Amino acid sequence: MERDSWSRDVSRRDFMKVCMAVSAMLGLPFGMAETVAAAAMADGRPAVIWLHFQECTGCSESLLRASHPTVASLLLETISLDYHETLMAGAGHQAEAALHASMHDNHGKYLLVVEGAIPTRQAGIFCKVAGKTALESLQEVAAGAQAIISIGTCASYGGIQASAPNPTGAVGVSDIIKDKPVINLPGCPPNPYNLLSTILYFMTFNKLPDLDGMGRPKFAYGRRLHEHCERRPHFDAGRFAQAFGDEGHSQGHCLYKLGCKGPATYANCSVNRFNDIGVWPVSVGHPCIGCTEPAILFNTAIADKVQIHEPTPFDSYAPVDLKEKGKGPDPLTTGIVGLAAGSALGAGAVVARRLPGDSGTEENDHGQTD
Ligand code: SF4
Repeated sequence: MERDSWSRDVSRRDFMKVCMAVSAMLGLPFGMAETVAAAAMADGRPAVIWLHFQECTGCSESLLRASHPTVASLLLETISLDYHETLMAGAGHQAEAALHASMHDNHGKYLLVVEGAIPTRQAGIFCKVAGKTALESLQEVAAGAQAIISIGTCASYGGIQASAPNPTGAVGVSDIIKDKPVINLPGCPPNPYNLLSTILYFMTFNKLPDLDGMGRPKFAYGRRLHEHCERRPHFDAGRFAQAFGDEGHSQGHCLYKLGCKGPATYANCSVNRFNDIGVWPVSVGHPCIGCTEPAILFNTAIADKVQIHEPTPFDSYAPVDLKEKGKGPDPLTTGIVGLAAGSALGAGAVVARRLPGDSGTEENDHGQTD
């Protein structure tokens, strides 16, 4: 049975546009948008319990700041959000009663969304809500959940709290919960459409989408964002910003030499952007920091360069005609120089030798100018 109308905030037209975009993101056939829409409008919205632990609430903020149409409206009318410490009107005993009523009434069927890392050192005393540690709350609520969504890098892998020396012993949900399906939506913050798409997929097919080896849905984290970056033609042509504010930076050249982690970061930020105004860090001049990749985030300095995996553009890319401009290397030269330096320094090391045609200063192996 379907509801007659969708929402006071979202028109039917906008709703169908979002369902079509979500279907495309999920890689579903064109006609499946109607099926996704029907699942979203069906009665019996899934109960969702949203717990906050060691975090900054940026993941919730990212969800609430989206608009045109408001993804928060779509999401909040698609699910029954029974408990969310930031959004719910109730507090104290009233909030706790809502949490336990939902856990009781929807036992085995509710979705648990976790935002934030879980401290484990000293029995987890570093984060307590309603007299219980985050560790106790997670274990109690996860026991009755059908599946768990770890939203953000903190819930997925521990986030900034888990970086050395990790004084609170912060970990991600999947480090603790081993007997339930856990899906990771890393990002700092993650794109709210990835959450909406994951939930709509779950409602449409009653299962979680395919995951990669790190528990991330392949539809959103299956490709490196470097592949679809708008600055990629500059990378292929060997045109790099050498310093923040220089000529290359202001011309929109590639940010690789400023430490962009895009070539090793699996995420869809360059395609599915933020705030519904078509922006993401690289589009406004800041290098990607690799926030969906714990190995990069925790082990690579922000200005260091990552290994290049795709040194040459795909065949489907438009050719880079450098001769016409009379400067710069060909894409193959860019790639070979990058690969040679990268392999010499090992995984996660720097590709920082001066490229033919670069006008910037010489760099040492750690990406620092001499
Ligand atoms: S290195 Fe960064 S800025 Fe350059 S093309 Fe790749 S993702 Fe874009």
